Amino acid sequence: MKTGFIGLGAMGMGMAQNLHQAGHLYGVWNRSKDKAQAFAARTSVEVAPSIKALAAECDLIITCVSRDKDVLDVIKKIAAGIKPDGIVVDTSTVSSETAKQAGKLLKAKDAHFLDCPVSGGVEGARQGTLAMMAGGDEAILQQARNALSAMARNIVYIGPTGAGQACKAVNQIMCAGINQAVTEALAFGEDMKLNMDRVLEVVSSGAAGNWFLDHRGRTMLQGAYDVGFKVNLHHKDLRICMEMAKQNPETRLPLVEMTLKQYEKLMEQGHGDEDISALFRLKHHGG
Ligand code: NAP
Repeated sequence: MKTGFIGLGAMGMGMAQNLHQAGHLYGVWNRSKDKAQAFAARTSVEVAPSIKALAAECDLIITCVSRDKDVLDVIKKIAAGIKPDGIVVDTSTVSSETAKQAGKLLKAKDAHFLDCPVSGGVEGARQGTLAMMAGGDEAILQQARNALSAMARNIVYIGPTGAGQACKAVNQIMCAGINQAVTEALAFGEDMKLNMDRVLEVVSSGAAGNWFLDHRGRTMLQGAYDVGFKVNLHHKDLRICMEMAKQNPETRLPLVEMTLKQYEKLMEQGHGDEDISALFRLKHHGG
Protein backbone atom coordinates (compact mmCIF):
# COMPACT_ATOMS: atom_id res chain seq x y z
CA MET A 1 0.00 0.00 0.00
CA LYS A 2 1.33 3.42 -0.95
CA THR A 3 1.63 4.99 2.50
CA GLY A 4 2.09 8.59 3.65
CA PHE A 5 2.99 9.75 7.17
CA ILE A 6 2.05 13.07 8.79
CA GLY A 7 3.59 14.28 12.09
CA LEU A 8 7.27 13.54 12.63
CA GLY A 9 7.39 14.31 16.36
CA ALA A 10 8.87 12.22 19.17
CA MET A 11 6.60 9.28 18.27
CA GLY A 12 6.07 9.86 14.55
CA MET A 13 9.76 9.96 13.67
CA GLY A 14 10.35 6.38 14.83
CA MET A 15 7.09 5.11 13.37
CA ALA A 16 7.85 6.63 9.95
CA GLN A 17 11.38 5.22 10.06
CA ASN A 18 10.01 1.71 10.60
CA LEU A 19 7.46 2.09 7.80
CA HIS A 20 10.31 3.15 5.53
CA GLN A 21 12.48 0.21 6.53
CA ALA A 22 9.61 -2.19 5.80
CA GLY A 23 9.28 -0.65 2.32
CA HIS A 24 5.83 0.95 2.80
CA LEU A 25 6.59 4.65 2.99
CA TYR A 26 5.92 6.79 -0.09
CA GLY A 27 6.05 10.30 1.42
CA VAL A 28 5.96 12.39 4.59
CA TRP A 29 4.73 15.78 5.72
CA ASN A 30 5.53 17.70 8.90
CA ARG A 31 4.41 21.17 9.98
CA SER A 32 7.98 22.25 10.83
CA LYS A 33 9.86 21.70 7.61
CA ASP A 34 13.25 21.04 9.24
CA LYS A 35 12.12 17.70 10.71
CA ALA A 36 10.69 16.53 7.37
CA GLN A 37 13.84 17.55 5.56
CA ALA A 38 16.10 15.80 8.08
CA PHE A 39 14.02 12.63 7.66
CA ALA A 40 14.19 12.90 3.86
CA ALA A 41 17.95 13.41 3.95
CA ARG A 42 18.35 10.22 6.00
CA THR A 43 15.93 8.04 4.06
CA SER A 44 15.43 9.56 0.55
CA VAL A 45 11.68 9.47 1.22
CA GLU A 46 9.95 12.43 -0.45
CA VAL A 47 8.59 15.39 1.49
CA ALA A 48 5.14 16.25 0.10
CA PRO A 49 4.44 19.92 -0.66
CA SER A 50 1.17 19.78 1.30
CA ILE A 51 -1.08 17.42 3.25
CA LYS A 52 -3.62 17.55 0.44
CA ALA A 53 -1.01 16.57 -2.16
CA LEU A 54 0.21 13.64 -0.02
CA ALA A 55 -3.37 12.43 0.53
CA ALA A 56 -4.06 12.54 -3.21
CA GLU A 57 -1.12 10.19 -3.89
CA CYS A 58 -1.56 7.59 -1.13
CA ASP A 59 -3.80 4.60 -0.39
CA LEU A 60 -3.02 4.84 3.33
CA ILE A 61 -2.26 7.95 5.39
CA ILE A 62 -1.01 7.62 8.97
CA THR A 63 -1.15 10.63 11.29
CA CYS A 64 0.54 11.29 14.64
CA VAL A 65 -0.07 14.86 15.82
CA SER A 66 -0.75 16.38 19.24
CA ARG A 67 -4.27 17.32 20.28
CA ASP A 68 -7.91 17.02 19.21
CA LYS A 69 -7.94 20.27 17.25
CA ASP A 70 -4.67 19.34 15.50
CA VAL A 71 -6.10 15.99 14.40
CA LEU A 72 -9.24 17.65 13.03
CA ASP A 73 -7.19 20.35 11.20
CA VAL A 74 -5.07 17.66 9.57
CA ILE A 75 -8.05 15.41 8.74
CA LYS A 76 -9.83 18.32 7.00
CA LYS A 77 -6.77 18.87 4.81
CA ILE A 78 -6.53 15.14 4.09
CA ALA A 79 -10.24 15.03 3.20
CA ALA A 80 -9.62 17.77 0.63
CA GLY A 81 -7.27 15.47 -1.32
CA ILE A 82 -8.03 11.85 -0.47
CA LYS A 83 -9.09 9.29 -3.09
CA PRO A 84 -12.31 7.28 -2.63
CA ASP A 85 -11.52 4.18 -0.54
CA GLY A 86 -8.37 5.79 0.85
CA ILE A 87 -7.68 4.82 4.48
CA VAL A 88 -6.60 7.21 7.25
CA VAL A 89 -5.17 5.80 10.48
CA ASP A 90 -4.77 8.29 13.31
CA THR A 91 -2.33 7.20 16.00
CA SER A 92 -2.56 10.40 18.10
CA THR A 93 -4.23 10.26 21.52
CA VAL A 94 -7.47 12.25 21.34
CA SER A 95 -11.10 11.86 22.45
CA SER A 96 -13.49 9.26 21.04
CA GLU A 97 -15.66 12.20 19.95
CA THR A 98 -12.84 13.60 17.80
CA ALA A 99 -12.34 10.17 16.26
CA LYS A 100 -16.04 10.04 15.35
CA GLN A 101 -15.86 13.51 13.78
CA ALA A 102 -12.79 12.50 11.79
CA GLY A 103 -14.65 9.38 10.62
CA LYS A 104 -17.58 11.49 9.40
CA LEU A 105 -15.34 13.96 7.54
CA LEU A 106 -13.70 11.10 5.65
CA LYS A 107 -16.89 9.14 5.06
CA ALA A 108 -18.23 12.21 3.23
CA LYS A 109 -15.36 11.61 0.75
CA ASP A 110 -16.02 7.85 0.53
CA ALA A 111 -12.81 7.27 2.46
CA HIS A 112 -12.21 5.27 5.68
CA PHE A 113 -10.97 6.18 9.14
CA LEU A 114 -9.47 4.08 11.92
CA ASP A 115 -8.62 5.46 15.37
CA CYS A 116 -5.50 3.57 16.33
CA PRO A 117 -3.79 5.16 19.34
CA VAL A 118 -0.61 3.51 20.50
CA SER A 119 1.27 2.75 23.70
CA GLY A 120 4.91 1.87 24.29
CA GLY A 121 6.65 5.25 24.40
CA VAL A 122 9.27 6.69 22.09
CA GLU A 123 11.30 3.51 22.60
CA GLY A 124 8.40 1.40 21.28
CA ALA A 125 7.99 3.78 18.35
CA ARG A 126 11.69 3.51 17.49
CA GLN A 127 11.77 -0.26 17.83
CA GLY A 128 8.46 -0.93 16.05
CA THR A 129 7.08 -2.69 19.13
CA LEU A 130 4.09 -0.46 19.95
CA ALA A 131 0.77 -1.76 21.23
CA MET A 132 -2.02 -0.45 18.98
CA MET A 133 -5.71 -0.30 19.93
CA ALA A 134 -7.93 -0.02 16.88
CA GLY A 135 -11.41 1.45 16.38
CA GLY A 136 -13.41 1.49 13.15
CA ASP A 137 -14.35 -1.13 10.56
CA GLU A 138 -12.48 -4.40 11.20
CA ALA A 139 -12.34 -5.24 7.48
CA ILE A 140 -10.57 -1.91 6.83
CA LEU A 141 -8.14 -2.67 9.65
CA GLN A 142 -7.34 -5.95 7.89
CA GLN A 143 -6.42 -4.01 4.73
CA ALA A 144 -4.08 -1.70 6.68
CA ARG A 145 -2.72 -4.34 9.07
CA ASN A 146 0.35 -5.28 7.08
CA ALA A 147 1.66 -1.70 6.97
CA LEU A 148 0.70 -1.05 10.60
CA SER A 149 2.65 -4.15 11.65
CA ALA A 150 5.85 -2.29 10.74
CA MET A 151 5.14 0.04 13.69
CA ALA A 152 3.25 -2.12 16.16
CA ARG A 153 3.93 -5.59 17.53
CA ASN A 154 0.43 -6.04 18.90
CA ILE A 155 -2.60 -4.65 17.05
CA VAL A 156 -5.92 -5.36 18.74
CA TYR A 157 -9.31 -4.53 17.25
CA ILE A 158 -11.43 -2.96 20.02
CA GLY A 159 -14.71 -1.94 18.33
CA PRO A 160 -16.40 0.77 16.22
CA THR A 161 -14.94 4.24 15.59
CA GLY A 162 -13.93 5.86 18.91
CA ALA A 163 -13.41 2.53 20.71
CA GLY A 164 -9.64 2.64 20.09
CA GLN A 165 -9.46 6.03 21.84
CA ALA A 166 -11.67 4.82 24.71
CA CYS A 167 -9.23 1.94 25.23
CA LYS A 168 -6.33 4.40 25.16
CA ALA A 169 -8.07 6.36 27.94
CA VAL A 170 -7.98 3.17 30.04
CA ASN A 171 -4.26 2.93 29.29
CA GLN A 172 -3.61 6.56 30.24
CA ILE A 173 -5.42 6.26 33.58
CA MET A 174 -3.22 3.26 34.35
CA CYS A 175 -0.09 5.20 33.32
CA ALA A 176 -1.05 7.99 35.75
CA GLY A 177 -1.26 5.46 38.58
CA ILE A 178 2.04 3.84 37.65
CA ASN A 179 3.73 7.25 37.46
CA GLN A 180 2.35 8.13 40.91
CA ALA A 181 3.48 4.80 42.38
CA VAL A 182 6.99 4.79 40.90
CA THR A 183 7.85 8.43 41.63
CA GLU A 184 6.52 8.27 45.20
CA ALA A 185 8.23 4.95 45.96
CA LEU A 186 11.62 6.02 44.59
CA ALA A 187 11.49 9.34 46.47
CA PHE A 188 10.72 7.35 49.62
CA GLY A 189 13.70 5.06 48.91
CA GLU A 190 15.99 8.11 48.60
CA ASP A 191 14.61 9.54 51.85
CA MET A 192 15.50 6.19 53.50
CA LYS A 193 19.09 6.73 52.20
CA LEU A 194 19.07 3.41 50.33
CA ASN A 195 21.48 2.51 47.53
CA MET A 196 19.01 3.23 44.73
CA ASP A 197 20.91 1.29 42.04
CA ARG A 198 20.39 -1.83 44.13
CA VAL A 199 16.78 -0.93 44.83
CA LEU A 200 16.11 -0.62 41.08
CA GLU A 201 17.92 -3.87 40.37
CA VAL A 202 15.86 -5.93 42.76
CA VAL A 203 12.46 -4.20 42.69
CA SER A 204 12.29 -4.30 38.88
CA SER A 205 12.62 -8.10 38.96
CA GLY A 206 9.79 -8.65 41.45
CA ALA A 207 6.03 -8.12 41.56
CA ALA A 208 6.38 -4.31 41.42
CA GLY A 209 8.46 -4.43 38.21
CA ASN A 210 7.00 -2.47 35.28
CA TRP A 211 7.88 -0.71 31.98
CA PHE A 212 7.95 2.78 33.50
CA LEU A 213 10.32 1.74 36.27
CA ASP A 214 12.62 0.03 33.76
CA HIS A 215 12.68 2.94 31.29
CA ARG A 216 12.40 6.00 33.55
CA GLY A 217 13.54 4.88 37.03
CA ARG A 218 17.24 5.52 36.52
CA THR A 219 16.82 8.80 34.62
CA MET A 220 14.44 10.27 37.19
CA LEU A 221 16.92 9.47 39.97
CA GLN A 222 19.52 11.41 37.94
CA GLY A 223 17.12 14.36 37.56
CA ALA A 224 16.97 13.85 33.76
CA TYR A 225 13.50 14.34 32.28
CA ASP A 226 14.26 15.17 28.68
CA VAL A 227 13.09 12.05 26.86
CA GLY A 228 9.73 10.45 26.27
CA PHE A 229 6.18 11.60 26.91
CA LYS A 230 5.56 15.26 27.71
CA VAL A 231 3.71 16.26 30.90
CA ASN A 232 1.42 18.57 28.92
CA LEU A 233 0.43 15.70 26.56
CA HIS A 234 -0.46 13.33 29.40
CA HIS A 235 -2.34 16.23 31.03
CA LYS A 236 -4.31 16.56 27.78
CA ASP A 237 -5.10 12.81 27.88
CA LEU A 238 -6.25 12.89 31.51
CA ARG A 239 -8.56 15.83 30.77
CA ILE A 240 -10.08 13.67 28.03
CA CYS A 241 -10.60 10.87 30.60
CA MET A 242 -12.37 13.32 32.96
CA GLU A 243 -14.66 14.43 30.12
CA MET A 244 -15.46 10.81 29.20
CA ALA A 245 -16.18 9.99 32.85
CA LYS A 246 -19.06 12.51 32.79
CA GLN A 247 -20.99 10.07 30.57
CA ASN A 248 -21.60 7.88 33.61
CA PRO A 249 -22.52 9.57 36.93
CA GLU A 250 -21.06 6.64 38.87
CA THR A 251 -17.60 6.84 37.36
CA ARG A 252 -14.98 8.25 39.75
CA LEU A 253 -11.36 9.03 38.85
CA PRO A 254 -9.68 10.28 42.06
CA LEU A 255 -6.22 9.25 40.89
CA VAL A 256 -6.67 11.18 37.65
CA GLU A 257 -7.89 14.27 39.53
CA MET A 258 -4.83 14.22 41.80
CA THR A 259 -2.44 13.70 38.89
CA LEU A 260 -4.02 16.54 36.88
CA LYS A 261 -3.46 18.96 39.81
CA GLN A 262 0.16 17.88 40.15
CA TYR A 263 0.82 18.13 36.39
CA GLU A 264 -0.71 21.63 36.46
CA LYS A 265 1.78 22.55 39.19
CA LEU A 266 4.64 21.22 37.05
CA MET A 267 3.36 23.12 34.02
CA GLU A 268 3.14 26.37 36.06
CA GLN A 269 6.78 25.79 37.10
CA GLY A 270 7.77 25.51 33.40
CA HIS A 271 8.16 21.71 33.24
CA GLY A 272 5.31 20.96 30.78
CA ASP A 273 7.66 19.82 27.99
CA GLU A 274 9.55 17.41 30.25
CA ASP A 275 8.87 13.68 30.46
CA ILE A 276 6.04 12.68 32.82
CA SER A 277 8.62 11.17 35.20
CA ALA A 278 9.22 14.85 36.18
CA LEU A 279 6.42 14.14 38.67
CA PHE A 280 9.38 12.96 40.79
CA ARG A 281 10.19 16.68 41.29
CA LEU A 282 7.07 17.00 43.46
CA LYS A 283 7.60 13.87 45.54
CA HIS A 284 10.38 15.13 47.81
CA HIS A 285 9.57 17.51 50.66
CA GLY A 286 5.93 17.79 49.59
CA GLY A 287 6.85 19.23 46.14
P1 NAP B 1 5.42 15.75 19.78
O1 NAP B 1 6.82 15.28 19.86
O2 NAP B 1 5.05 17.04 20.42
O3 NAP B 1 5.02 15.78 18.21
C1 NAP B 1 3.82 16.31 17.76
C2 NAP B 1 3.79 16.27 16.24
O4 NAP B 1 2.52 16.77 15.78
C3 NAP B 1 4.86 17.16 15.59
O5 NAP B 1 5.29 16.56 14.39
C4 NAP B 1 4.07 18.45 15.32
O6 NAP B 1 4.62 19.24 14.29
C5 NAP B 1 2.75 17.84 14.87
N1 NAP B 1 1.62 18.78 14.98
C6 NAP B 1 1.08 19.27 16.12
N2 NAP B 1 0.04 20.07 15.83
C7 NAP B 1 -0.10 20.07 14.48
C8 NAP B 1 -1.01 20.69 13.59
N3 NAP B 1 -2.00 21.50 14.02
N4 NAP B 1 -0.87 20.46 12.26
C9 NAP B 1 0.13 19.65 11.82
N5 NAP B 1 1.03 19.04 12.61
C10 NAP B 1 0.90 19.24 13.93
O7 NAP B 1 4.41 14.69 20.41
P2 NAP B 1 4.55 13.08 20.49
O8 NAP B 1 5.12 12.72 21.83
O9 NAP B 1 5.17 12.56 19.24
O10 NAP B 1 3.00 12.69 20.57
C11 NAP B 1 2.18 12.68 19.41
C12 NAP B 1 0.84 12.04 19.77
O11 NAP B 1 1.06 10.69 20.22
C13 NAP B 1 0.10 12.76 20.91
O12 NAP B 1 -1.29 12.73 20.70
C14 NAP B 1 0.50 11.94 22.13
O13 NAP B 1 -0.45 12.07 23.18
C15 NAP B 1 0.56 10.55 21.55
N6 NAP B 1 1.46 9.60 22.23
C16 NAP B 1 2.68 9.97 22.72
C17 NAP B 1 3.49 9.03 23.35
C18 NAP B 1 4.85 9.37 23.90
O14 NAP B 1 5.39 8.56 24.69
N7 NAP B 1 5.46 10.47 23.49
C19 NAP B 1 3.06 7.69 23.47
C20 NAP B 1 1.83 7.34 22.93
C21 NAP B 1 1.04 8.30 22.31
P3 NAP B 1 5.87 20.23 14.60
O15 NAP B 1 7.09 19.41 14.36
O16 NAP B 1 5.71 21.34 13.64
O17 NAP B 1 5.74 20.68 16.03
